[in-house]
This record gives sequence, structure tokens and C-alpha cells, in this order.
Amino acid sequence: MKLRTKIQLFTSIFMLVLIIFINASIYFLFYQNSVESELDELTDQTTTIISRMKENQDIPPGELLKAFIPADGMIRVYPEIGEPLVRSKPDIDYENFPGEYSNTEVREVITYQEDRYAVVSRPIIWSTSEIVTLQIVRQLVSLEENMKNLLYVLILASILMIVPIIIAGNLLARFLLQPIKALISTMRENMKHTKWKKIELDNRSKDELYEMEKTFNEMIDSLKDNYEMQEIFVSDASHELKTPISIVKSYAQLLERRGKDNPELVKESLEAIHSEANRMQKLVEQMLSLAKNKEVQSTESVNVTEILEETIETFIGAYGREIELELNTPIYIQGDRDQLKQVIYILIDNALKYSDSSVNVSTEKQENQLSISVTDYGAGIPKEEINRLFERFYRVDKARSRNTGGTGLGLAIAKAIINSHGGTIEVDSKIGEGTTFKVVLPIKE
Ligand code: ADP
Repeated sequence: MKLRTKIQLFTSIFMLVLIIFINASIYFLFYQNSVESELDELTDQTTTIISRMKENQDIPPGELLKAFIPADGMIRVYPEIGEPLVRSKPDIDYENFPGEYSNTEVREVITYQEDRYAVVSRPIIWSTSEIVTLQIVRQLVSLEENMKNLLYVLILASILMIVPIIIAGNLLARFLLQPIKALISTMRENMKHTKWKKIELDNRSKDELYEMEKTFNEMIDSLKDNYEMQEIFVSDASHELKTPISIVKSYAQLLERRGKDNPELVKESLEAIHSEANRMQKLVEQMLSLAKNKEVQSTESVNVTEILEETIETFIGAYGREIELELNTPIYIQGDRDQLKQVIYILIDNALKYSDSSVNVSTEKQENQLSISVTDYGAGIPKEEINRLFERFYRVDKARSRNTGGTGLGLAIAKAIINSHGGTIEVDSKIGEGTTFKVVLPIKE
């Protein structure tokens, strides 16, 4: 069943049930009240009869009662034993009307020969001093008539009410479904033609449907960005791989043509092929790392001081360069040890690659955050390039980066890891003076 039919059906049925309930309540309340007032009237009449009988004891009570017979009813008096004493209306219609002696007051509605009657029975003291039951009966003629009219009015009112309710349900369904329909058709169009079409957000109220459309547009923006980034990444990656592959290929061809009796050329070619193969391996490893490092792999308590000392020791051992470490106490943070070590490795590696003098590493612990700074005194980075440093495959000094085995992926990996740890990474650089990369990480207990 369509959503539109469901909304319409639900609103109509719900309102119909509500109307029927309200109208039925009105009907029964009116009936109850009318019957009560009829019975009250009859009770008042019995009181009047009793007082008149007391005042006029010389008049036979049977005669006196005749003055009180209702137009559409009758009066009867029942002794405790035997036939009724008085039958005010010896009308055949009332011959079998139910009634009996009772020593308590009874107020009721009796259906007799398909008509309804209000009946009040009350014990009174008769002229013979015995206790008898005075029954006074009145047919509910006008009430029946009124109830019939009321029923017609309520049925008519219900029909008149249900028509605007159906129209309102229809309008509500249309109002709710219009944006959903627009959303579905936009999504279909996007899927069919691989487009990034968004929904027009006109100046309407900022309700949930508006929020849905706004969120959809935001999602399209982010999908588009991701898609474009992915495309750039693939084209950059293939471009990066193209160079080493063509180098390997040309050396292989050279070897084929002139390698047989030229050992010098064989040595040079093998070295070049080996170096390019290493480069491709590093590139592929870094691309995998970038894809992997969008999330923290495992969370543990990591001793940052220890990782810094280990990494610096490795670099000093490998390059024999001077790296200063300013730090005293162990500092622990929550995160993935290997990923954090990779960030420190990338930053110190860059500092060594792009400078010739010493490198300085320092840490600072504040209340709930830890900052790690890696400073070098190299050539520095131009201001306009700083914003693009963390882009994948972006290299400021392309020639130098390639010569030093750089892929342009290191800082992108570092940023992805720091972001997934809830931290930030900033650069402060002055041309000719040097560069400081500062990583700030939250310390979680
Ligand atoms: P790469 O593998 O090329 O070093 P990175 O992503 O690590 O890639 O760095 C991107 C670019 O940023 C580098 O190519 C380099 O030009 C520049 N860069 C990074 N660190 C420094 C630094 N400490 N000093 C100067 N330039 C740097």
C-alpha cells in the first residue's frame, strides 16, 4: 500500500472513530438526561399525590387519583396481596403492563409493546391504613421523537465532518510526500547519470522535511568531495607509479639491447631497477597505510616518551645526525602505539630530509593535552604552500622530495592518524630559518 493511501486511510479512520465516539456520547448523555428529568417529574407527581391524599381524606383516593393521570400514561395501586386496588386506565393497552407491590421506591424505564415508558413506583399509606405501592407510568413519546431527530442530526453532522477530513488527509499526504518524492527522483537521477544533483531548498519553514533535504544536500556534497578526492588519488597514484615503471622498463630494454657485453651497464641498470622497485614498494605500502589509518586500530595506554626515545635512537643509528630530545617524565596517552610511532617517524624523517643541521624534538604536557614539536633549521616552507602540505602526493620541492625517496604521502598519513586520535597537527615555518611541526593530542584517562 502506498504511503499516501496509508496516511489518508489512517487519518480518515481515526477521525471517523473519534466522531462516532463523540456523537455516541452526545446521544447517550442526552438520552440519560431526558429520562432522568422524566423520572424526576413523575417522582414529583407522586409527592404531590401523597400530599393531596393527606389534605383531602374525605375524597375516595381512587377518585382523587383520576386528576393525576398523565396524558400518555396511567396510575395503578398495588396492595401487598391480591389484585391492583386502582386501575386508573382500564385501557386494554395497559392490561398486561408489568407492575407489582414493592416497599421501596423504584425508578425505571420499561419497554412495553415496543414503546418505552418511564415508571416510578413508591410505597404510600392507603385510606385503609395498609401500605400499598403507587405506580405512575408515562410513555416517553416526545423523548422517542427527540432521540430520532438527534440521531439524524448527528449522522448528518458526521457525514459533513468526514468530507473535510478526507480532503485534509489528502492535503497532508501531499504536503508530506512532495519532498520525499522530490528526494526519490533526485536520487534516481543521480544514480542513473552519476550526477551530483541537489534538492532546491526554497524559503519554507525549517521543519524535519527541510532538515531531511538539507542533510541530503550535505551528503551529496560530501559524496562528491570523496568521489573527486578518490579520482584525484587514483590519477595521482597511477602517475606516481608511472615514473618508476617507465624507468624499470627502459633499463630492461637497455639491458636487452646492450647488456650482454657491457658489465658496467648491467650494474648501473640493476641498481636503478632495484632502487625504483624499492620506491614502488614504499609507495604501495604508504597508500595501504593511508587507506588503513582512517580509524584508530587499537586503543591502549601508550608511553609517548618511550616511542620518541626509540625512534630518535633508530634515526641517530641510521644517519648519524644530531637529534635533541627535551623531555623528562613518561607521558601516557590512549591510542594505537604503532600508528603514533609512525607519525613521529614521518615528522623526524622529514625534518632530517629537508634540513642539514640538527633536529629538535620537545614535548609539553598541559592539563588534558600533550603537544609534541619537531623542529628543524632547514630551508623552510613557503607560506602559500603550508595549507596544501597535508594533501596526498603534494610535494613542495618535488625534485628534492623524489631524490630523498619522498612520496608526498607522509604528512597525509600523519594527519589521518592524528585526526583519528582526536588531535591536531600544525605547521610553523619561516623561509631560510626552519620548520616546526606541532602535534597536539588529548590525554584521556
Ligand atoms: P614526502 O614523502 O615527499 O616527504 P610528505 O607528505 O612527508 O611527503 O611531505 C610533503 C612535502 O612537504 C614534502 O615533499 C616537502 O616538500 C614538504 N616538507 C615536509 N616536511 C618538511 C620540512 N620539515 N621542511 C621543509 N619541507 C617539508
